[in-house]
Amino acid sequence: MPRDFAGLLRGASLRVTRPRVAVLSAVHDHPHADTDTIIGRARADLGEVSHQAVYDVLRALTTAGLVRCIQPRGSVARYEARVGDNHHHLVCRSCGEIADVDCAVGETPCLTAAEDHGFRIDEAEVVYWGLCSACSTPPANGRNTRV
Ligand SMILES: [Zn+2]
Ligand SMILES: [Zn+2]
Repeated sequence: MPRDFAGLLRGASLRVTRPRVAVLSAVHDHPHADTDTIIGRARADLGEVSHQAVYDVLRALTTAGLVRCIQPRGSVARYEARVGDNHHHLVCRSCGEIADVDCAVGETPCLTAAEDHGFRIDEAEVVYWGLCSACSTPPANGRNTRV
């Protein structure tokens, strides 16, 4: 699905630059990508672009709310373009695979904390840990290779 990345940038009051469009497009195409993946994609689009330039763009996009950064325990930072819907993540303990989990439609039960201590809560970050289907399926030779 072609997206109007320039329009998204303008809507967030960010100047439209080729690195910003390339990075935003890479994050849209590769949900939960790490920085190295995004740098690789940006280079495929733009030719040579420095790590620092990509980091700077990711920071600007994250600050502007166009990109969300998640960092499950033990993982490098991952970026996604699905923002503002309070969705959660499943993370595989073994291979690090990440999948999206929707919040209940139209409701945000996880935002109703048992005790809010006077905070006005607008976000809940829930990570479900487990094994993905590939990692929880025993290998074909029947031997359990998990440690
Ligand atoms: Zn796995
Ligand atoms: Zn996600």
